[in-house]
Amino acid sequence: MKSKKYEFIIVGAGAGGATVARELAKRGKIVLVLEQGKREKKLGGAINSLRYFDHHKVTMWPKASKEGTFLYRTIMAGGTTMVSCANGIRCGEDELAAFGINLNDEFSEAEQEMGIAPFNLKWLSKGSKKILEASKELGYKMEPTPKFMRYNKCRRCGTCCLGCPYDAKWTSLDYLDEAIKHGAEIMYKTAIESVLVAHGKAVGVRGKGPEGQVEIFSDAVIIAAGGLATPVILQKTGIEDAGANLFGDLLVNTYGVTKNLSQLEEPLMALVDTEFHASKGFILSTWLQQSRLHRFVEAGVQGALLPANRSLGIMVKIADDPIGRVYPDGSYSKPVTKNDRARLKEGSDIAKKILVRAGVNSKSFVVGNPVGAHPGGTAAIGKVVDKNLQTKIDNLFVCDASVFPTSLGAPPILTIAALAKRLAKTFV
Ligand SMILES: Cc1cc2nc3c(=O)[nH]c(=O)nc-3n(C[C@H](O)[C@H](O)[C@H](O)COP(=O)(O)OP(=O)(O)OC[C@H]3O[C@@H](n4cnc5c(N)ncnc54)[C@H](O)[C@@H]3O)c2cc1C
Repeated sequence: MKSKKYEFIIVGAGAGGATVARELAKRGKIVLVLEQGKREKKLGGAINSLRYFDHHKVTMWPKASKEGTFLYRTIMAGGTTMVSCANGIRCGEDELAAFGINLNDEFSEAEQEMGIAPFNLKWLSKGSKKILEASKELGYKMEPTPKFMRYNKCRRCGTCCLGCPYDAKWTSLDYLDEAIKHGAEIMYKTAIESVLVAHGKAVGVRGKGPEGQVEIFSDAVIIAAGGLATPVILQKTGIEDAGANLFGDLLVNTYGVTKNLSQLEEPLMALVDTEFHASKGFILSTWLQQSRLHRFVEAGVQGALLPANRSLGIMVKIADDPIGRVYPDGSYSKPVTKNDRARLKEGSDIAKKILVRAGVNSKSFVVGNPVGAHPGGTAAIGKVVDKNLQTKIDNLFVCDASVFPTSLGAPPILTIAALAKRLAKTFV
């Protein structure tokens, strides 16, 4: 038992948790961050990634919904930002405006701190250059993706989504280290189970650390354990509405084989087409999963057998129907609805047209199964938290992808960081 009393306990050191920790520590608050994962020393490559992607302990297979849909997340300091593709896109503005939330100032601050700028086209692979040309010829609008990349460190390995061994992108560890510099404490390998409540107020947390059970006390608690873990903690604290409304921003990857083009040696998702986002709920982005193992997980034997050095690919990511649910034991349900399948197909059909124009053999297409990489919605604003991200329990807040009212269908890190900055301002 830690006898020190903190002003803020923050559970989780990912996109939401590390940002709010930094903001509060910079304002002189007494902050403790509790993180289930460790600070990984070895990042990158398929084998290392198996360690930090949430997986079944015996089979090592990624954890899936009851229906078999994978919603990827990592358990490690820095959270899922550690495997991001460095996309920093403003999104969710309309959805949040409906609750009177305006993040303009916070977006600008975060963009500057993370160094977000459109992808440098000098770094485009031959394959993606061809996709850019093909999409223009067909009247589509592929453009450079806004990125928080560090080109001076990038080695163009094209495996950003497995964790970057070269520190070539912003991650939540940048904010976490600043929080620590400003006096925040952090305990790793500490999994929080529930929040301690007295007289209707959050007063601390209970969980398991490296040395066994812990109870730690604070004036306020901020849960930032991500869209799949936060609702479990809330449900165990008696907030039963948490867990519903789960979405995953489902995606499929469409690959095809060319004679001699590839997207190797390029950061993932260099180009994006957002023209259908508002009207049809999907975006397209250049994508080639280099790891044979991960291609096997997403597209079976056909996926694993694709020749990566002659393949091109485009990802379709949708705003899926938020009808999944996370249960108190951590398992979850995520049906892929008829509507989701129609959106994925419409996007994938456009991807195929562009790929054929770029030189892909139309008989070689391999389309992966739907998976998700942005679980959220499970402690939604207007349902589980109010517009200041407070639950019905006083001094208990949520600050991660769980609070999104609906699926954004786009990379959410920048929006989560902006929300965390806004939350910190409410405590001053
Ligand atoms: C392969 C991949 C690529 C992606 N690329 C992008 C991208 O380019 N741009 C983008 O915007 N988004 C991207 N995303 C999505 C983005 O990374 C996540 O949506 C985002 O990190 C979610 O933030 P969060 O704060 O909700 O959760 P996380 O960042 O996952 O943080 C949750 C933290 O809580 C910890 N935790 C969990 N349970 C507990 C517990 N019980 N007690 C204590 N700690 C706990 C976890 O270890 C983790 O550190 C990507 C996702 C994946 C899988």
